[in-house]
Amino acid sequence: MAIDGGRRTERGPVAVVTGGASGIGRAVVADLVAHGYRVAVLDRDLPEGRGLPQVHEADRVRWVVGDVRDPDAHSRVVEAALSHFGGLDLFVGNAGVHDGGIRVRDLAGAALAEVARHVLDVDVVGYLLGARAAAGPLADSGGSMVFTLSDASYLVRGNGAGIAYTAAKYAALGVVRHLAADLAPSVRVNAVAPGGVVTGLRTVAGDRVFGGTEEITAAVRGLNPLGVVLRAEQVAPLYRFLASAAAAGMTGEVLRPDGGLAVR
Ligand code: NAD
Repeated sequence: MAIDGGRRTERGPVAVVTGGASGIGRAVVADLVAHGYRVAVLDRDLPEGRGLPQVHEADRVRWVVGDVRDPDAHSRVVEAALSHFGGLDLFVGNAGVHDGGIRVRDLAGAALAEVARHVLDVDVVGYLLGARAAAGPLADSGGSMVFTLSDASYLVRGNGAGIAYTAAKYAALGVVRHLAADLAPSVRVNAVAPGGVVTGLRTVAGDRVFGGTEEITAAVRGLNPLGVVLRAEQVAPLYRFLASAAAAGMTGEVLRPDGGLAVR
């Protein structure tokens, strides 16, 4: 592996992050940049507020605006990493959308299909397309992939997930494990499965899932044994760890920063 030597050391580590304009992805980009990475970000939006634009000015982040459901968008962001930063060592698949907690009888069939297709397209097919675009360059560098799963990859109705989001996050766990087997030994594939993190996460209809209200954060806190609501900045270093030499023996694994939901 080229983690501590070879081309990566000469040019410095390079990552692609999807959904890096907000929430967990945004914190991952900031953490990677703070630790020497240069990052190409694919998001449908440019970031708002303070922080990343300053990083952008330092020319350590390239923004590619596009939709993770579009294979060409993934080709463009991987190409941006290769052409601007000289290689690719880490692909973080993270962009996601929520279903608002729907149960199977909440919507009429056509509306249910529309929500479910959108969530599965972004949260599952988007991951497959990113993996497809990044696998070749990562095999060349001996790099790795890290995907964002969720407590909803393991639980039913954990932290307010509905049927489409649960289906998508269970499926994404299958994607991670299948990719890990497919791409060994050249590319490692792991995941982070957070519990409730207060972010800008939105439903297909565009509503905020967390809304920032006391009521919602208290509900998240009340669900997990540690009684925590994690911040995106607390979760972000786990991605860097999984990409590091310290995790060189790990593939197909999931780290679960969720306040101990597994022992609830
Ligand atoms: P967020 O909305 O703050 O960030 C998601 C980002 O993905 C946004 O910048 C958004 O523009 C982008 N995005 C969404 N759909 C896209 C598309 N079709 N094409 C391109 N970009 C798109 O939310 P977040 O909570 O940071 O979510 C990141 C990931 O974390 C998601 O996969 C989510 O399911 C997962 N997750 C979140 C929590 C939580 O509690 N917030 C818990 C577990 C898992």
